Amino acid sequence: MTKLGEFELIDRLLKPRAALGQPFYRNPLALGIGDDAALLPPLPQGEQLAVSTDMLVEGRHYLAHADPFRLGHKALAVNLSDLAAMGAQPVAFTLSMALREVDSAWIDPFLDGMLGLAREAGCPLVGGDTTGLPSDGAQCISVTVLGSVPVGQALRRDGMRPGDQIWVSGTLGDPAYALREGLVDMRLEMPQPRLALGLALRGLAHAAIDVSDGLAAEVGHLVQCSSDRDPASTHVQAVLDWHVLPLGDRLRQAIAAGTVTDAEARQMAACGGDDYELVFSAPPSATAALQKLAGHAGVMLSCIGHVRHAVDDDRPLVWRDHADHDMDASLTGALGHGGFRHF
Ligand code: ADP
Ligand code: MG
Repeated sequence: MTKLGEFELIDRLLKPRAALGQPFYRNPLALGIGDDAALLPPLPQGEQLAVSTDMLVEGRHYLAHADPFRLGHKALAVNLSDLAAMGAQPVAFTLSMALREVDSAWIDPFLDGMLGLAREAGCPLVGGDTTGLPSDGAQCISVTVLGSVPVGQALRRDGMRPGDQIWVSGTLGDPAYALREGLVDMRLEMPQPRLALGLALRGLAHAAIDVSDGLAAEVGHLVQCSSDRDPASTHVQAVLDWHVLPLGDRLRQAIAAGTVTDAEARQMAACGGDDYELVFSAPPSATAALQKLAGHAGVMLSCIGHVRHAVDDDRPLVWRDHADHDMDASLTGALGHGGFRHF
């Protein structure tokens, strides 16, 4: 293995690779890696910056022996997923790393995974910071993404309104199932951020969030933020249909094979996490446009419930069964508190 010094890392590795296939590095108004700060070209008229950071800590969010290519992809993907959930177009990102050593056998594939996705997303690496760690320190990878969105058009969490329908993209639960069974799952290891969908939802969705910690937890965030926005108005509540949750292929096969019950599968879809799909609310008048864009974008969109005024009921969400009845409170209570605990 080859240990790299700071010069090799920044000038030989990061700078040339970050520039590959990125028009940013040919723009005379832009400045990337190498100076005291990066310079971005001015945003188009009427656009504002969206900024988001996500950190991955070894031993907490990934294992020391995790495949570096997939880890590089994932570290950027989870951040791009946040931009997608805001309806923002990626502009650039920075990468900060605390590493025990800079070993080319690890950093090469790590950058390949990360910068490959960066090219696909048109999101250049423009700077960052690198620091050493004590030999027993946990490594840490922090990415900050910058995106651009027309003023007032970002898809915020606090926009849910009574009467909205609740939609989710793609399918749910396969990454959680893979995690439980110890299976390799490409959706778990190399999530594909729903960037095109996020952009297409501008002007259609009232509120949106990406599903990293489990559908129930994320819908809970939408409800909380939307209820807190105007303390004077009635709180909102989400009503979700248990039987229409779109299950992943793997889960469907497991149900067919009898290794998982339908209820277990739905529980994983509702609470599992790591799906990186978008869940959003939109008025019924948007339905035709949503169906059309699903066809064009080749992404499945499922209507999984609706938003109502919360009258004498402080539960953020209620699950409904086949017969349109609220499901057992003990079950829904357990479901409502699903999701990854960060502390
Ligand atoms: P400074 O001392 O001014 O912070 P550094 O030596 O930390 O400078 O960084 C030199 C250049 O390399 C800067 O442009 C910085 O953005 C870039 N850089 C350092 N680490 C990384 C990294 N992990 N990813 C991308 N760019 C980096
Ligand atoms: Mg620095």
